[in-house]
Amino acid sequence: MVIVAHPDDAEFTVAGTVAAWAKAGCRVTYVVCTDGNAGSHEPGMTRQKLAEIRRAEQRAACDILGVSEVVFLGYDDGQLQPTLELRRDLVRLIRRYKPEVVITGDPTRVFWDDKYINHPDHRAAAQAAVDAVAPASELPLLWPEVGAPHRVRQVYIHGNDQPNLGVEVTETIEQKIAALKQHASQMGAWDPTEMIKAWSAETGREKGLAYAESYRVITLGPSDEADSQ
Ligand SMILES: [Zn+2]
Repeated sequence: MVIVAHPDDAEFTVAGTVAAWAKAGCRVTYVVCTDGNAGSHEPGMTRQKLAEIRRAEQRAACDILGVSEVVFLGYDDGQLQPTLELRRDLVRLIRRYKPEVVITGDPTRVFWDDKYINHPDHRAAAQAAVDAVAPASELPLLWPEVGAPHRVRQVYIHGNDQPNLGVEVTETIEQKIAALKQHASQMGAWDPTEMIKAWSAETGREKGLAYAESYRVITLGPSDEADSQ
C-alpha cells in the first residue's frame, strides 16, 4: 500500500519500485489523500474540475504501473493535516487491504539541498500513515468499527536522509517516466525524463546499481514482542 498526499507524488518518488513489485506479482493499492485540487494556475480552472482531471491522470498512471486499486480520500489539497480523522481513514484501509508493506514519505523532512521546502501535505500524509500503521491498525480496541486489527510488517520511507535500502529500478524506470507523464496537468511542456533519470542514477551510484530508489525500511517485530513492551 502506497500512501501519498497528491496525485503524482508516487510517480515522482516510488513508482519504479511499485512497477517492479507489481511485475513480480504483488497487489499494490494506492491511497491518495487529496485530489490535488489546488495544483493549477490555469485561468478558469475550478477545484472540482481539477479534482476530476487529476483523479483520471492518477488512474492512467496506475494502469501503466500495474497498480490494482486507487483509493482517493478526497481531502482538500494544500490543507492536509495529520488529524485523527485522517489516521482513522487510513486504519480503515489498512484493515481492509491488509498490506504487508506500507510505502510513504518522511514526515520529518522539511528541506532538501538548500533549495526545496517539502510540501506540508506530504509531511501530513506521511505522519498520518506511520501513525496509522503503528500502533493504531493492530489495536483491537481502537476503532473496532473500521475493521479487524491488521499488523503491517514493514514501512518503506522514501525521502529519508539515512536510507538503508536501495531498490533497483533499472528495468522499470521507463514505466515510471511514462506514468509520471500521465499527470499532464502538472507537467505543462516540461519533460521529466532527464530529472528522473538523474535522480535515480545518483541514488543507484551509491548502491552500485544503474537506477535505484532509496528507502529507510522500518521492520516491525512480531506482535507478541510488541505486546510485552
Ligand atoms: Zn505532492
